[in-house]
Amino acid sequence: MATPRKSRAVVLLSGGMDSCVCAALAVRDYEVAAVHVSYGQRTEERERQSALAICQRLRIHHRLMIRNEALRQIGGSALTDESIDVPEAEAIGQDIPVTYVPFRNAHFLAVAVSWAEVLGAEKVYIGAVEPDSSGYPDCRPAYYKAFNEVVKAGTKNGRIEVVTPLIAMHKAEIVRLGLELGAPFDLTWSCYSREDQACGVCDSCVLRLRAFESAGAQDPIPYAAR
Ligand SMILES: [Zn+2]
Repeated sequence: MATPRKSRAVVLLSGGMDSCVCAALAVRDYEVAAVHVSYGQRTEERERQSALAICQRLRIHHRLMIRNEALRQIGGSALTDESIDVPEAEAIGQDIPVTYVPFRNAHFLAVAVSWAEVLGAEKVYIGAVEPDSSGYPDCRPAYYKAFNEVVKAGTKNGRIEVVTPLIAMHKAEIVRLGLELGAPFDLTWSCYSREDQACGVCDSCVLRLRAFESAGAQDPIPYAAR
């Protein structure tokens, strides 16, 4: 008997470690299509390459590479505005940092839900994480709960669900899960400021390095400083 075809899921793939683990999870359970959004962020070329390489490794053939022009023009974040420096990680978790891109995940989710509706996909995966993160408001569980109400009310059959399988996990647990799933961490990019080697000092690098260290694993990407 032929195995029934898997249901479809759309995965938002930034190219970072969380989205990579999310994609590996989704590939296990669904026929996956991946969306990557470039939005004028400092490391956009490197992240785009990472997303494509991860698709290749995980055999995700259905890809949508999107450019969002609004976020860069709006600015207001160290990631999209050259006049705001990317800070070194000193006060993670105290305030919402300047690397927060205003309401960014809503732009990404809108694209992914639109595509899911066209593809007939049931789920939209996003690798949002709340603990051990920078405290971005669009990574909170309440936000996804509310967003799912919007999706339910605003799509044809109201059956698409945005899922956040990593949201309550600590970064070290995400590393362990990724290793179990064979997620290609070597292809991921997390650094906010550099594209040649990871800087090792921005929030994103520091959180990532801490995660690998507490998972007792070696981060396979090159760093300028550790
Ligand atoms: Zn960095």
